[in-house]
Amino acid sequence: MKYLSEFRDARKIREVLDKLRATITRPWVIMEVCGGQTHNILRFGVDRVISPVELVHGPGCPVCVTPPHIIDLAIELALKPNVILTSFGDMLRVPGSELDLLSAKAQGGDVRTVYSPIDAVKLAQENPSKEVVFFAVGFETTAPSVAMAVKLAEKLNLKNFSILVSHFLVPPALKAIFSNPETKIQGLLAPGHVCTVTGYEEYEEIAQEYKIPIVVTGFEPLDLVQGIYMCVEMLERGEVGVRNQYTRSATREGNLKAKELMWEVFEVVDREWRGLGLIPKSGMKLRESYKRFDALEKLGLKPKKAKENEVCISGLILQGIKKPTDCPAFGKECTPTHPLGAPMVSSEGACAAYYKYHR
Ligand code: SF4
Repeated sequence: MKYLSEFRDARKIREVLDKLRATITRPWVIMEVCGGQTHNILRFGVDRVISPVELVHGPGCPVCVTPPHIIDLAIELALKPNVILTSFGDMLRVPGSELDLLSAKAQGGDVRTVYSPIDAVKLAQENPSKEVVFFAVGFETTAPSVAMAVKLAEKLNLKNFSILVSHFLVPPALKAIFSNPETKIQGLLAPGHVCTVTGYEEYEEIAQEYKIPIVVTGFEPLDLVQGIYMCVEMLERGEVGVRNQYTRSATREGNLKAKELMWEVFEVVDREWRGLGLIPKSGMKLRESYKRFDALEKLGLKPKKAKENEVCISGLILQGIKKPTDCPAFGKECTPTHPLGAPMVSSEGACAAYYKYHR
């Protein structure tokens, strides 16, 4: 198939659903990891046509898992007189302990939205008297482009470009979720975009360790129902391992060049996730040889203890233990115009998806 419309073809989707119904004998609980998958599941009503499969939503929304102390640091940077803080637009309304970046901008901070880390490098070239900081959030999908920006700044010998790193690795978070005795997840749709970069060898280890089936899955409605069907087929057979639905993009070894670039600039570090706490070896930080691009070191900032909203149950939602509608604040105190937690802000957040698609 070549065109997007083919992945939304109702006839083809019905054919897969027929196969699913002919295969399934009992209810199963499957987690999709990626926030993009969550939104398309809700948007196209995939969750409404796969009964008795229950989908729960994972920690794959980068904005949602960025902890408040990092947002507080971004705000502190933005309020420095000589700093231009650049960020993807999604981050601007994510609450820190007290403020968000949009409020920092209203207080006079120079906060600018960029579409790529390379735009931030260009901004540094155009503003030699300012320190341009890029707020680098996200998973293995965005880390290679941030690494590329750092390499470009090095090549251009830029002294006024740095990054605030908040990069996460998906597999350690999945291990933490599957190790939780409260989990009811029986199968996993692995994130197609992340696996396009990293490949899925690490997911094979997870499948064996936790005795579950995993299907690397794309984002369109046909991808999603195919991924669910493949996962149910494995569950019904008691099959453990990894299958790849997203063959048009993901391979077992992933994108070798992107991985090489990413690991040249970054190394693994323990990282705190919003709602999930500290997960060993679940993040990236700049290697010693690129430390001069670390905004915190350069500008002498240290993380402080941050407050999370006490009402928000995003940690349980990101682990697939609760759904957004289980939160007492959902659609009441917490709405997209007045978010109490990150999952209500982000275009990939589960709470925003439930709100937008009236669940
Ligand atoms: S509805 Fe709001 S308060 Fe509740 S979990 Fe979602 S983001 Fe947090």
